[in-house]
Amino acid sequence: MQRREFLKISSLGIGGLALSGTLLYEFFNSANDETDGELHRFPTYCEICFWQCAGWTHLDKDKKIWKIIGNEDDPHSNGRLCPRGTGGIGSYYDKDRLKKPLIRINDRGKQSFREASWEEAFDLIAKKMKDISSKYGPESMALFHHGSGGKYFTNLIKAFGSDNIAKPSFAQCMGPREVAYAATFGTGLSSPEPLDIRDTKCLVLIGSHLGENMHNAQVQEMSDAIDKGASIITVDPRFSTAASKSKFWLPIKPATDIALLLSWINVLITNEWYDKEFVELNCEGFDQLKQHVQSFTPEWAFGITTIEPDVIVKTAKTMHDASPAVIIHPGRHTTWYGDDTQRLRAVAILNALLGSWGKRGGFFIPDKASLPHHHLPAYPKPAWTWKDTVDGKYNLVDLGLANIMVDASIPKKSGDNSKVIKGWFVVGTNLINTLPNTTHTLKAIQNLDLLVAIDTMPMEITGWADVILPECTYLERYDSIRVNQNREANIALRMPATKPLYDTKPAWWMARELGLKLGLKEYFPFKTQEEELDWELTQIGSSLKEMKKIGVKKIPTPDHYLYIAKGETIEFNTNSGKIELYSSAIDEEGFPAMPVYTKHPEPEDGFYRLIYGRAPMHTFSRTANNPNLTDLMDENTVWINPKIANLWDLKENQYIKLKNQDGIVSTFSIKVRITERIRIDSVYMVHGFGHADKKLTQAYGRGASDTEMITNVLIDPIMGGTGMRGNFVTFITETV
Ligand code: SF4
Repeated sequence: MQRREFLKISSLGIGGLALSGTLLYEFFNSANDETDGELHRFPTYCEICFWQCAGWTHLDKDKKIWKIIGNEDDPHSNGRLCPRGTGGIGSYYDKDRLKKPLIRINDRGKQSFREASWEEAFDLIAKKMKDISSKYGPESMALFHHGSGGKYFTNLIKAFGSDNIAKPSFAQCMGPREVAYAATFGTGLSSPEPLDIRDTKCLVLIGSHLGENMHNAQVQEMSDAIDKGASIITVDPRFSTAASKSKFWLPIKPATDIALLLSWINVLITNEWYDKEFVELNCEGFDQLKQHVQSFTPEWAFGITTIEPDVIVKTAKTMHDASPAVIIHPGRHTTWYGDDTQRLRAVAILNALLGSWGKRGGFFIPDKASLPHHHLPAYPKPAWTWKDTVDGKYNLVDLGLANIMVDASIPKKSGDNSKVIKGWFVVGTNLINTLPNTTHTLKAIQNLDLLVAIDTMPMEITGWADVILPECTYLERYDSIRVNQNREANIALRMPATKPLYDTKPAWWMARELGLKLGLKEYFPFKTQEEELDWELTQIGSSLKEMKKIGVKKIPTPDHYLYIAKGETIEFNTNSGKIELYSSAIDEEGFPAMPVYTKHPEPEDGFYRLIYGRAPMHTFSRTANNPNLTDLMDENTVWINPKIANLWDLKENQYIKLKNQDGIVSTFSIKVRITERIRIDSVYMVHGFGHADKKLTQAYGRGASDTEMITNVLIDPIMGGTGMRGNFVTFITETV
């Protein structure tokens, strides 16, 4: 397959391949607009992943949803959806969807439920919340959320009196990056990251596999940058798709990335290949950094990383030659080995030394629309939050840590349970597969007085709930206006293309109805979502009517600039007002102010480091049952180097089980893929398979779950994130 064929995201997307022959013909030949004078396309933004690409949902002549395509005016997608976005239609037609509110009738986890009316479900939840509040305080209710529905339940939980609210996408994903960039540049990177990939001359991917993770606009821009001659440097123990398009592939020994990064810093400084003017004007702590890295030579790093010294020098020179149009990609899923904030600090420092902040081809200055919100009464001040349970740790974090809230749900051995969490709302996140150490999560669940799961699909987490509230899919509902940063400020509308199937409802409605039951009406001033959206849009000179026609609107901020001028000094939001190569904030917390390399344990004989990642046609475990996407990939495989396969006498496509260092055996078998594309000390699998919920008829038992194997969790002492790459597996061949 040619590079452009793979990397370029089609304006139709390969999700179309899941359609039948006749439909496929119409799919490729249809106009994307009204043909009969009737409105049959509706603006939306995709919910299949966090990128939130804007598009149009089309109905066929029978008013049934039949395709989703990109919105040409959308900077997140440039009018092209990825395979998952096109296949999002499968989430609507999935026959396994949750259909009615359900109330548990047996022990937790036994998957015995009875159908209930919305009224009965809400009455039960409200009663249990009140009981928890009167016994333990309102703070004992917690919210875990992902996706659009979380906003409404955040309002509900805050109004109820709790601030125990977390997204696993922080402490289990991009939290270390956000803390590291805030410590260095005074700001996190948020989403989509302001990377000027389209104009870069050098893109360094370190553990980030663009093309397989399908971060839409970034993948498109990388393809364009390659066409324009940009050098790609990929650091990965696995020969990823991105590695195959790279000028340099550095198959690093896992868990040694910090050594490589420190050595690159050493080479840039020793050879004076850094941007002297930028560093002098904008950075603080250069002399300490120079002193700190002087022993981290390429020869030193070679002994640790297995990357040849001349390759380290050559790649550093490539970055220098491209500077400032160079990006060391900050990555997204950054919770690896527990020293993740330090690793991301090293990445941030490299970008600072190369002068790429605020530069064309480096990091642009993002613009974001500001949407006024209706004035709500002040939320009650909680008596405590999760932060009060961690003995003064994690002060650089201002977002909830999901794993700490799980810890706070397990009663203390000391008997002091004044700050215990007793009720969970879990909105749009399958916590069982999202959090490492499933046993620990289940222990917490067994101690709850209330677990409410809100989702479109049955998931492992819904099986443990007391009450399940079925949400309609993003194609059947209004949601908040999408307001995300980009080169130009813009907003996007999501509206229903059709009525919700079954007895499903939008999260907005659920949170409001519960709010009314709990006597919190003043926090829900709008009776309908349309009313709220129209009010908000009117404040900025638009309207719901206008947005229904255009879907995406650009609202550039006057005088916003994308790049900073050469020689310009900037004020950064750090203690010193400069980019901190030496982080005073991290120093104040008692941690090394500059990154250090620490050796991590290696696998014992017969064990291999478990590395996991993504496939372009799936979004973690959330799409594993989507009929359109399972047609493209319905199970994961375990990548094993031929030398290791030979040692174990493994055959291609043979099914085996995995066993980890703690003796945990995978519930399901996984197919062997023998490939030179993985180092001999590691194995690789795509995350999100091995579903154990039989209600997922497509996904049940297909492939193995990497989460099950992740029982050794390496907590980042700076920000509390859960490093998940310190796990090793061996093979069980005889039982399958
Ligand atoms: S990248 Fe793909 S899955 Fe994610 S929002 Fe865009 S179209 Fe949807």
